Amino acid sequence: MTADCIFCRIINKESDAEIVYEDEDIVAFKDVYPAAPVHLLIVPRRHIPTLVDLKEEDTLLVGRLVGVANDLARSFDLDKSGYRLVINCGREGGQVVYHLHLHLLGGKALSPAIARGRGV
Ligand code: 5GP
Ligand code: ZN
Repeated sequence: MTADCIFCRIINKESDAEIVYEDEDIVAFKDVYPAAPVHLLIVPRRHIPTLVDLKEEDTLLVGRLVGVANDLARSFDLDKSGYRLVINCGREGGQVVYHLHLHLLGGKALSPAIARGRGV
């Protein structure tokens, strides 16, 4: 727990969020400024600032984060239509909240431009 981290505060129920999943290691909630009809954030309970802070012993956790994201995609009926998982890392990666999180985006046709280096 890091006192000034908004996601730690949400995980600890000190700040409001629409939580859609939680277990002993992972919490998922709706993004407050959704960029798509479905925009969820999947976060580890442990305060890991960013992608480069992951250690080899976190491999299982990373797999579980992706697994929870896939389960949520099924729950939100995105599995047939498709969806996108995004992790922003650091300043030039567009990271704003420094508590590791996966964005799950779906519910509309997302731009394929990201794969061509033209942004989202
Ligand atoms: P980043 O740019 O760090 O990858 O994404 C951070 C995301 O967190 C943004 O999409 C932003 O809308 C979302 N966010 C920031 N503050 C809050 C908050 O207090 N509650 C919720 N639910 N989402 C937040
Ligand atoms: Zn945190």
